[in-house]
Amino acid sequence: TPVVEYRSIRKQYGEFVAIGSVTARVNKGEVVCLIGPSGSGKSTLLRTTNALEQIQGGELLFDGKPLPASKAGIRQVRQRMGMVFQNFELFPHKTVLENITVGPRTVLKVSEQEARKRAVALLDKVGLADKADKYPANLSGGQQQRVAIARALAMEPEVMLFDEPTSALDPETIGEVLNVMKRLAEEGMTMIVVTHEMTFARRVADWVVVFDRGNIVEQGPAAQIFDNP
Ligand code: ADP
Ligand code: ADP
Repeated sequence: TPVVEYRSIRKQYGEFVAIGSVTARVNKGEVVCLIGPSGSGKSTLLRTTNALEQIQGGELLFDGKPLPASKAGIRQVRQRMGMVFQNFELFPHKTVLENITVGPRTVLKVSEQEARKRAVALLDKVGLADKADKYPANLSGGQQQRVAIARALAMEPEVMLFDEPTSALDPETIGEVLNVMKRLAEEGMTMIVVTHEMTFARRVADWVVVFDRGNIVEQGPAAQIFDNP
């Protein structure tokens, strides 16, 4: 069953066509990787998914329903999607633990005790149990990105959106982030991943969508995309 369906999505910035007409879907429990040259529209499509970008044409379905137009509706949809950005975007004046508890506390109205319990378990899951009381600036990029993943997971999302999650990292910390993502995939999380990491796409993606200049030029199972001459 599709969690996200893009039906003839079109997106322009003024006269510039960032996405011509894109049709694709993301089934439950599937990892879909969006690949292709820089500027080909991958990130733009990802950002339409949770209405960070508005579409000008076509239809976007989440859980079988069109994205709501109201602010309240969009807020609710965003709560059900976790997003991880290229530059982490952690709260610099909060500790690692507080970065993870703040969403569940303020949005989901979870008790402080429960939020902490969840955060500790998630930090353990991403291999950062010993960093709970540190501030983001004291962590490596790879560690910060793993905190960002834990923070998104704390909201118990139905789908995770990753926008070039390793592009800003030092090469030696890329692997630890990709490993966390791979484990998440193995646990059955539905994921949409914009990435230049072809080895990750080849090994982890169930479905690969190849972009060029605002359109999909090819999509299919990873084996088909990468192994055909
Ligand atoms: P259909 O209307 O037959 O589903 P599509 O062009 O959407 O036509 O899909 C063609 C084939 O690709 C079908 O076998 C479909 O199951 C498969 N497919 C499309 N998108 C995905 C996806 N995200 N994951 C797995 N299989 C997919
Ligand atoms: P990719 O993720 O494949 O690198 P993007 O989706 O970021 O590509 O960008 C697609 C195109 O849209 C690029 O040419 C980019 O310059 C343009 N673009 C992206 N965001 C904006 C914006 N806010 N205003 C104008 N043009 C934009």
